[in-house]
Amino acid sequence: MLQQTQVKTVIPYFLRFTNKISTLKKLSKTNEKQILKYWEGLGYYRRARHLLATSKIIIKEKNSILPKTLSELKKLPGIGDYTGNALLGLVYNQPRIALDSNVKRIFSRLINKRENKINFEKFVTKNRNKLFNSKRNSDFVEAIMEFGSLVCKPKDPHCNICIFKKFCKFKKSNTKNKLTSPINFSKKSYSIFCYINNNKQIGLTNKNDLGFLKNCNLPIIKEKINKQKVKNWNFLCNYKNSISNKTLNIDLYYKFSRKIPKDLSWYSLYDKKEFIPTFTKKIFRRLENLY
Ligand code: SF4
Repeated sequence: MLQQTQVKTVIPYFLRFTNKISTLKKLSKTNEKQILKYWEGLGYYRRARHLLATSKIIIKEKNSILPKTLSELKKLPGIGDYTGNALLGLVYNQPRIALDSNVKRIFSRLINKRENKINFEKFVTKNRNKLFNSKRNSDFVEAIMEFGSLVCKPKDPHCNICIFKKFCKFKKSNTKNKLTSPINFSKKSYSIFCYINNNKQIGLTNKNDLGFLKNCNLPIIKEKINKQKVKNWNFLCNYKNSISNKTLNIDLYYKFSRKIPKDLSWYSLYDKKEFIPTFTKKIFRRLENLY
C-alpha cells in the first residue's frame, strides 16, 4: 500500500483492509471483486490483484511461508527488486535495503552527487560493511526510510539535528544543489466515450488495453480523436486528470442510450457492491449535471 503513497494517506485504508482481512489464509480466500472493494480509493489496483495472487501461491505452493531468497520472491506476482529487498530486510532481518526515494535521497546527499548519476545497487554493495553492521537490519531498513521522510526531507532537510552532519557532503557544500532527480511527468491525451441511461448508469467495460488502470471498470477510452471526426457523440468538456506520474488530457463525450455494445455493462456510481475506480467516479460526477 505504501508504494507511491504517503503513510498518512494509507493508515485508514490499511486499518479498513486488515479489519476485513486479518490473515494470509483469509486473504487467499478472498475473490478479486472483494479485494478491489477493500482497496477502493488507494489506486494502482494492480497491487491488490498481485497481493491476492501471491497469497494464493504462498498458501498453496509454499506451505504458507514467504520465500527467503530474492530470486524466489521475484517469481511471485508484483514482487521486484524493491519489494523483494524490503521483505527480506523487514521480515527476515537479512542485510538488504529497500531503495525507495527517501533512501536514495539520503545516499545522494551524503556523497553530494545527483541521484541519476548514482548506481545505487553498486553503492550498497560497496558500502555493505558500513550499512549492515548491526543484527537489527529490519529496524535499520525502516529507520533509514523514516529518516529520509522526517529529517533528510526533500525540501529543507533538518541538517542541524542530523547524525550525519559531520561528514555529509551536501551539508558541507555551499552550493546546496537540488540533488533529487526531477520526476518525469508524461502527458497523454485521450477521448472518453460514455453511454448513459436514464437511471444514471454508465456503460463500463473492464477490457481496456491502456497502460494504466488495467482490468478496471472504465468507459470507452481511445487515444485522442480529433473533435471534427467524432460523429453522433455529444462533447461535454475537456479536463485534466493526474494518475501517478501521468497527466491525462481528456475530451469527454456522452450519448444517451438504452442499449450498449456487448462488451459494456451498466454501472451506477451508487451501487455499493461494485468496484468503481476513482478515475471513473470522477467521470460519473462530471456527467451528473446532465440529468
Ligand atoms: S546532513 Fe542534512 S543533507 Fe546530510 S544527510 Fe543529514 S539531513 Fe540529509
